[in-house]
Amino acid sequence: MCRHLVYLGPPVTLARLLFDPPFSLVRQSWAPRDMRGGGTINADGFGIGWYPGDGEPVRYRRAQPIWSDPTIAQLAEVTTAGAVLAAVRSATVGMAVLDNAAAPFAEGRWLFSHNGVIRGWPDTVVPLAAELPVRDLLTLDASTDSALLWALVRHRLRAGADAADAVAATVGAVAEAAPGSRLNVLLTDGRVAVASVLGHALSVRASPEAVLLASEPHDDESGWREVPDGRLVTASAGRVRLRPLR
Ligand code: GLN
Repeated sequence: MCRHLVYLGPPVTLARLLFDPPFSLVRQSWAPRDMRGGGTINADGFGIGWYPGDGEPVRYRRAQPIWSDPTIAQLAEVTTAGAVLAAVRSATVGMAVLDNAAAPFAEGRWLFSHNGVIRGWPDTVVPLAAELPVRDLLTLDASTDSALLWALVRHRLRAGADAADAVAATVGAVAEAAPGSRLNVLLTDGRVAVASVLGHALSVRASPEAVLLASEPHDDESGWREVPDGRLVTASAGRVRLRPLR
C-alpha cells in the first residue's frame, strides 16, 4: 500500500496541499486511515513532482520517510504550484528501497505513480516486458513492478496514445496477465490527470476551479467522493469523468 495524490487547480503551496490538512499525505505516511492490501505505514520513500510554470515538472524523491526530511518540509512552505503529483511509498516485500523506486516516475511533461502490486512479479509479466525495447528494460528506474508499469504506459504514450488510453490499455493487459493485481495509477501532464482504480481506494474532490484525486480524503470536510473499483478517471480542473476500466 502506498498513498498518492494529484492536484490540478489554482496555485497552492506544497505545504498547504501535502502537510497542513489533518489527514495529509504526510500524516498518511505514518497513520493512514485505509490500510487495505497490507502494510501499516508508508516509510520506504516519497516523491513530489510539481510544475513551476508552463514547462516540465520538477521532482524531489527520497528513499526515506517524508516525516524525516526537514528539507522538504521547508521547501514545501515556499514552493507554489498549480499542478502536483505526490506519493509516499510502502515497498512491496522484496522490492528495493531507493530514491529511484519512489514515484513519481517521469518523462517530459509526464508524471506517474502506482499504488498496488503486480501479482506473481516478475514471472507473470515477462511476456509483457518482452514487448518493450531492450533499452527501456536496461534503463528502468528500479527493478520494481511500479517502474515496469511506468515503462509500459510510457511506451504507449511515446507511440501517440492519449493518456486515458495508455493507462486503460496497460492496466487491462497487466490485470489479465497477473490476476489479482492491485493497479491504482495516476498519470498527469499538469493539465489533465488520469487515474485507474483497481484494488485500492481513490477519492475525488472537485470544485469549479480545481480537482484533487487522492488515495484517501485528507480532511473530513464535505465534497469527497469515493470512486468505485474498476473505474478509469479522467480529470482536469473543475471536470471529472468516470468510465469502466474494461
Ligand atoms: N509495489 C510498489 C512498490 O513496491 C508499490 C507499493 C505500494 O503500493 N505499496 O514500489
